[in-house]
Amino acid sequence: MKNTSFGLAEREEPPSASILTQLKEFKPAGRGFWANVADHDWTDWRWQLKHRISSVEQLQRLMPTITPEEYAGAKLANTKLAMAVTPYFFNLIDPTDENCPIRRQVIPRIEETHRASWEMLDPCGEDSHSPVPGLVHRYPDRVLFLVTDRCAAYCRYCTRSRLVSNATGYDFHPDFAKQIDYIRKTPTIRDVLLSGGDPLLFSDEKLEALLSALRSIPHVEFVRIGTRIPIFLPQRITPDLCGMLKKYHPLFISVHSNHPRELTIEAREALGRLADAGIPLGNQSVLLKDVNDDATIMKAHVQKLLMCRVRPYYIYQCDLIAGSAHLRASVRKGLEIMEALRGHTTGYAVPQFVIDAPGGGGKVPINPDYVVSRNEERVIIRNFEGKTFEYPEAVDGTPLFDGATVTPVEELAH
Ligand code: SF4
Repeated sequence: MKNTSFGLAEREEPPSASILTQLKEFKPAGRGFWANVADHDWTDWRWQLKHRISSVEQLQRLMPTITPEEYAGAKLANTKLAMAVTPYFFNLIDPTDENCPIRRQVIPRIEETHRASWEMLDPCGEDSHSPVPGLVHRYPDRVLFLVTDRCAAYCRYCTRSRLVSNATGYDFHPDFAKQIDYIRKTPTIRDVLLSGGDPLLFSDEKLEALLSALRSIPHVEFVRIGTRIPIFLPQRITPDLCGMLKKYHPLFISVHSNHPRELTIEAREALGRLADAGIPLGNQSVLLKDVNDDATIMKAHVQKLLMCRVRPYYIYQCDLIAGSAHLRASVRKGLEIMEALRGHTTGYAVPQFVIDAPGGGGKVPINPDYVVSRNEERVIIRNFEGKTFEYPEAVDGTPLFDGATVTPVEELAH
């Protein structure tokens, strides 16, 4: 506290509060090296794709602060997962900061070639659940429909790096006719998730043909699209695209954003256009070391997502993809972040922390423990402040677990 000339004590913001405010500011990506590019080119998504930074020579020229680890990583990228960054997204990198959270996500490093024994090429076991090429059928009522191996930029921790960018010769050849035929002949499938690669890289016409074919299947109740395009290439979210998508409701979109700096003015406007088309938007983040494994950064991110009309949906523990150890934060960190969010911010802003069980076990929710103990008579819970409370169990309550013990209330710290 400090005294003001009015004799009142003025509250000083704690440092984390002012950092939070700064992180939540919406800024434009700016033009950076592309200041002389005409507006109609800069805002054209095809121009952005054509001018991606994809070679080590371009990277050296545009980012002279490239480190030896990044140089070596970029040199080898085409043998593992290609490098590509749109000029728009490249402008979010702070070239003076080796550990810039944007840079860590898209600029390769030599550590990607180090592989621990527990890391895998297909950590979610997708290939072993694939009845036809490009379709993953792991859960009875829904399928993952892979449409392309291309993305606007390549995330260095990508779970599907075995196939996206086609750097390892995976030979990804989805056959839409066969994929759709399988769905048509499998009436238990009510939910189709289009992913890849990024489905929004397709032309409006190609994407519409796919959506229309899926919509013609009576038992498909619901279609989702997983995309990072509003973050890497917001120029792609054109009014024409939104006008086409809104014809295929119910259609949900899962965006992938990891850090509040990715939520620029351009990204907010693109997400707003999708929301105006009536598309419910959710976000999936991956917990990444020195990118977003920090409670203040995550809090700014989830609050900013709500301002972009996007509901934070999942925080994923980073999959055990080969060469990702340098980007993997601990599960403990994830739990600390969940603890710092639950009760400390709007419930809508609190995502579910999950681990996609290695080898194909599906998503498992990971939560801090709020039930201290329970039996057939009562449940002892703690709140976000660590205070404990007793809730009397309903008379017909059946204990969830055999042998659950109750700590007497008087022994619990209040
Ligand atoms: S956008 Fe998605 S599919 Fe593409 S590289 Fe990033 S994580 Fe992988």
